[in-house]
Amino acid sequence: MSIKKRILKPVTSAFALVNLPEISRKVNFIALMERFNNKKILLSFLIAIPFLFGGFIPNETMMPAFRMKKIVLDAGHGGSDPGNIGSRAKEKDINLAVTLLVGKYIKENMPDVEVIYTRDDDSFPTLKQRPQIANTNKADLFVSIHSNAATNKSAFGTETFVMGTKHFEQNFDIVKRENSVILLEDNYQEEYEGFDPTSPESYMLFNLTQKAFIGNSLSLAEQVENQFRDRVGRKSRGVKQGPFYVLWTPSMPSVLIELGFLSNSTEEQFLASKQGQEYMASAIYRAIKDYKNQIESN
Ligand SMILES: [Zn+2]
Repeated sequence: MSIKKRILKPVTSAFALVNLPEISRKVNFIALMERFNNKKILLSFLIAIPFLFGGFIPNETMMPAFRMKKIVLDAGHGGSDPGNIGSRAKEKDINLAVTLLVGKYIKENMPDVEVIYTRDDDSFPTLKQRPQIANTNKADLFVSIHSNAATNKSAFGTETFVMGTKHFEQNFDIVKRENSVILLEDNYQEEYEGFDPTSPESYMLFNLTQKAFIGNSLSLAEQVENQFRDRVGRKSRGVKQGPFYVLWTPSMPSVLIELGFLSNSTEEQFLASKQGQEYMASAIYRAIKDYKNQIESN
């Protein structure tokens, strides 16, 4: 017995010593094969996806070309807010007259474009409501029409603004105060993707989202000023940037047009006349038409 034991024991141990790692290797190999097979199945599935769903994934040729279908026209001021006041004319009336003419020309000549007014009478939508109307309607363009004034009565000419933050530092306190309302909301960090209204750095990202439209906004602004200068013979003071609230929140290319200075008697007279309003409105209409053709051909 004792001999058997002595014989058996070493054999068992030898078997264990020699074969256990081998079994373990075999088990590992099987596990590896299974993993490999799983990976293969996963890989085959991933490769098959385009073939299975290819018909449903739109490719570039299937994507419809961009069409400018909706435009929001915003006549500045209105109601109890007259805007700038000339010797006789009020800004709100000139803005409305020109805006309604622009809309009329678009409706007559671009039947595929829907015109939405922020106001078509002597009412006063708030500054917040005006871009909201554009966003709610998913407009492709937002055009705000105003008239200027200056203490220097000899100042005259047109200018068209796009949203810009050149003077952002001066306005940071008020911007911060207004935007800090979001801190009261639950999940504001998630909701606003980490945007912190109290941090100037956050506005760098914030401004980037606005910059998505700056190319198209600048393109329209330049065409408007070119039309005023070349076709109506006005003095163009150029395309400028400004942190206007109405240009801040629209989610589409947006411009703010200053038709001229009501503080300048000659310009006031021109802008208050029916002919002057028709000239200015047709210039804006042609700029919008050229802009539409340009972006739709890209
Ligand atoms: Zn104005």
